[in-house]
Amino acid sequence: MSPARAGRGDGGDKRGIQLLMHLRNQGIRDTNVLEAIETVPRALFVPEAFADQTYADQALPIACGQTISQPFIVAFMTQSLRLTDRMKVLEIGTGSGYQTAILAHLARRVYTIERYRQLLREAEKRFKTLKLNNVVTMLGDGAKGWPAQAPFDRIIVTAAARGVPQDLVDQLQIGGIMVLPVEIAPGEQELQRIVRTDDGITRETLLPVRFVPLVEGVAKDG
Ligand code: SAH
Repeated sequence: MSPARAGRGDGGDKRGIQLLMHLRNQGIRDTNVLEAIETVPRALFVPEAFADQTYADQALPIACGQTISQPFIVAFMTQSLRLTDRMKVLEIGTGSGYQTAILAHLARRVYTIERYRQLLREAEKRFKTLKLNNVVTMLGDGAKGWPAQAPFDRIIVTAAARGVPQDLVDQLQIGGIMVLPVEIAPGEQELQRIVRTDDGITRETLLPVRFVPLVEGVAKDG
């Protein structure tokens, strides 16, 4: 099979099943999350040049110097959010839109913010193709959140911040969960789960991770 066909033909189906088994072995037990991964065609989100690696468990380059996250990380972050289908979710860092599409299968509505216009346009086309009518997009600086739509039941950030952005904490429902990568030292990041409580937040460290940085402002070059 040519690399261009991988992930789109029979070989892709087989690799998709292998990936699901791998994710289960790695501790992804939430059947709703596994079903969403099975349903969303990752091939649609991966650049043609990397088609042969669609179902490899690794991050891959996308436009604007960004990355589509590794399937395990997408599954793990989604599982860590403890979603139900009644929830309103805010996502920072749309990128390819793959994580967004997974969330859209599990939540009531997903609000997603990206700072690159080009990435957002391409992701919007994919949401249309997949008829994901519960995704709302915005070009903007995600660190500021989406105050007009707050509060959110869940917030997920897919770019690494230096700390937990206070604007996002303020837009989280009391009892709500936020999952985000935090840079704890230069070149060192960890995935954290935050729960907003009546008088502040609780923090839990989940995993060491490697994400592109959360950058201030809308991108000027794309
Ligand atoms: N979930 C995406 C990950 C993309 S990488 C996927 O799997 O495809 C992280 C994304 O966050 C990049 O597209 C980057 O442009 C975006 N980003 C970084 N800082 C941002 C900010 N302040 N506001 C919105 N998006 C941001």
